Amino acid sequence: MSNDQNLDNSVKFRPDYQWPEKGSEQDCPRCNSAMQLQENLSEYYGKPWWCHACQWQFSEEELKS
Ligand SMILES: [Zn+2]
Repeated sequence: MSNDQNLDNSVKFRPDYQWPEKGSEQDCPRCNSAMQLQENLSEYYGKPWWCHACQWQFSEEELKS
């Protein structure tokens, strides 16, 4: 292997979640409370939706299923 210089870019793995449009709204599938949409920041590794009541994150994919 001679391409060590490329490794730095792949050290951090950010899950490639489908991100909702800003201003989107969703109700929690568990408790039906309105969830908070997180900002799509490069340093944020979590899922886009956050339910305060359940203290749980949801992805778009999980809400559709
Ligand atoms: Zn909830």
